[in-house]
Amino acid sequence: MSDSPGKNRGGEFGSLGRQASMRLVLALSVALALAGATAFWFYQAAFEKTAAQKLNDTVQHYATRIGQLEEEWEGEALRLKTRLEYSRLLEEREQRWVKLNSYLIAQSGSRIFSSVLVASRQGEVLYRYGVNADKLPGVIHQEGYVGWHHDPARAALYRVYRQPVWLGKDGMAWLYLFRPLDNALLYANSFPGTRLYLTHDGMLLSSSLGNDGRAVRPAHAGAVYHDNQRYEQFPLPWGKNDPQVRLVIQQQVDRPFSLQEVVYSGALVVLLLSVFLWLVLGRWLTTVARRVGALRRAAQTFSGERTVTPCMTQAIGEARAVGTDELSALADTLSSLIEAVVRGDRELGEQMVKLKQLNAELNEFTYITSHDLQEPLRKLMIFSEWLVRDMGGSLPEAAAKDVAFISEAAARMRRLVEDLLVLSRAGNRELQRERVSLKKVTDAAFENLALRIEEKNAVISRDPLPEVSGDATLLTQLYQNLISNALKYCDGVPHIHIGVERKNGEWLLGVRDDGIGINPEYAEQIFQPFKRLHVREKYEGTGIGLAICRKVVERHGGKIWVESGEGAGAYFRFTLPG
Ligand code: ADP
Repeated sequence: MSDSPGKNRGGEFGSLGRQASMRLVLALSVALALAGATAFWFYQAAFEKTAAQKLNDTVQHYATRIGQLEEEWEGEALRLKTRLEYSRLLEEREQRWVKLNSYLIAQSGSRIFSSVLVASRQGEVLYRYGVNADKLPGVIHQEGYVGWHHDPARAALYRVYRQPVWLGKDGMAWLYLFRPLDNALLYANSFPGTRLYLTHDGMLLSSSLGNDGRAVRPAHAGAVYHDNQRYEQFPLPWGKNDPQVRLVIQQQVDRPFSLQEVVYSGALVVLLLSVFLWLVLGRWLTTVARRVGALRRAAQTFSGERTVTPCMTQAIGEARAVGTDELSALADTLSSLIEAVVRGDRELGEQMVKLKQLNAELNEFTYITSHDLQEPLRKLMIFSEWLVRDMGGSLPEAAAKDVAFISEAAARMRRLVEDLLVLSRAGNRELQRERVSLKKVTDAAFENLALRIEEKNAVISRDPLPEVSGDATLLTQLYQNLISNALKYCDGVPHIHIGVERKNGEWLLGVRDDGIGINPEYAEQIFQPFKRLHVREKYEGTGIGLAICRKVVERHGGKIWVESGEGAGAYFRFTLPG
C-alpha cells in the first residue's frame, strides 16, 4: 500500500465526514435561528407585557390622584362659599364687591382658584376677579361655565365650580370658581418617571415639563411605543367631562438588557451549544466517518494490489477499534473476505503455474512429435520411390497402385505435420512486437502465393493498409492463410479484396472473396483445428489454416470471425490494436 496512515487523513474523513459536518452545522444553525427567534419573541412579548402593566399601574395611580383633586377642589369651592356666607361679607349691598376683592386678595396665598365670578340668577355678571376674568362675557346662560371653560385664545383650560351664595336682600346669586389646569398643576402632580400632557381636541394646553413641554406634541398618544417611551391617553375621570379633554401620560420604559448584552450572551450560548454538540454528536460522527473511510481505504487498496499489507491491516483495525458495533462487524467481514480472496488467488496462481507447465509440455510434445514424425515420413516417401525405381517395370500393377497410395498418404501426413508445426510455432513463438507495415506483409503473402494466384487468374484489390504493432512473420502467415483459402474456395475466377477500417480505436481488417461461402451454422466451428466442411477430393486441405489464423490474431490481442452465407462469398474479418 502506498499511503501512509496519516497521509490520507482528509481522504479518510471523506465525503461522509464532510456531509456529517455540513449537516451538523446546518442543524446547529437552524436550531440556533429557531431558538434565537423564539427567545427574541419571548423577550419582546415579556417586555411589552411588563411595560403595558407598568403603564396600567401608572394610569390607575393618576386616576386615583385626579379623583382626589376633584374632591379637594369641590370641597374648597364649598368652603369658600360657606366662609363668605358665614362672614356675611356679601349681604350689605354697599362695599360688597370691594370687601370681596380684599378678602380674595388676602386669601391669594392659599387660594387655588385663579378667577372668581359672581352672577345673578338671571345670568348677569355682577363681579369679576382674577386672571383674564375681564375677558369673560357679561351674561352667563343657565348652567354656563359649569364643569369646564376652555379659552382657545390663551390655550388655557379651567375646571369650573358653581356655588349658590346669599346676597342678603338681593337674594341668591351664583359664585363661579375657575381652577386652571396649567403646567404647575401637572408638574406638582406628576409621579417620578412620567410626564403629563393635557390636550384639548388634540392641541397641547399644558405639560408637566412647563413651557418646555409645549415643544412636545404627543400627537401619537394612545399606548404607542416609540424610543422606549410609552404614551397612554384617557379622559379625566370627573363628572360632567369635556370629551375633548385628554390627559396624556408619557412613561419611560427601559429594556432589561441592552443590545450589546443580548448579543454577547447570545454568542456565549452559541459557543457553548456548539461545543456541547461537537462533544456529544460531532466527535462521534467524525469517528464513524473516519472508520468508514478506513474501511473504504482498506477495500480500495486491496482491490488495487490484491495483497494484504500492514497499512491495510492497520486501517481495518482502525475501523474495528470501537466496541462491537456494525462497523466492527463489517471490518471483520471485510477482513475474512480479503483472506478468502487472497487464499483463492494463491490457489488460482498455483493452478495457473501448473496449467502453464502442462501447456508448455503439450506444445513441446506437439513440436517434438511433429518434428520427429517428419523424418520417418520422409523415409517412407523416399523408399516408396526407390521401390518403384528398383523394381523397374517389373512391379505388378496392383502393387504399383498400393505403393502410389502409400506415398500419397505419406505426403498428406507430411502436410498435416507441417501445418501442425506451424500451429505449434504460432502458439509458442515469442511475439516479436515491432512496427509492421501491413502493405509489406500482404506483399509477402502475395509473393508466397504467386503461382496459385496466376493459376486462378485471381483479381485482387487492396485498401491503403496501415502500420500496426505486431509480429511480421505471424501476420504474413495470417494473410497468407486467408488469401489462400479465398483462392481455394472459389470455383470460378476469384475476386479478392483486402479491406481496412478504423473503429473504436482499433483496426478492423479483413479478406473478402466471392467464392462458395460458408453456412453461418459453421461460422464458429471452422476455426477449430482439423474442422473441414468439404471432402478432400473436392478441396485439398488439412483443416488447420484457420486455427493458425485465430491463434495469431488472439496473440496480438484481437478477435477473428467470418461473415458469410452459402454461395455468397466469405468475409473473414479480424481486429488488431491500433
Ligand atoms: P483447410 O482450408 O485446410 O481445409 P482451414 O482451417 O483453412 O482448413 O479451413 C477450414 C474450413 O473452413 C475449410 O475446410 C472450408 O470448408 C472453410 N473455409 C475456409 N475458408 C473459406 C472460404 N474463403 N470460403 C469458403 N469456405 C472456407
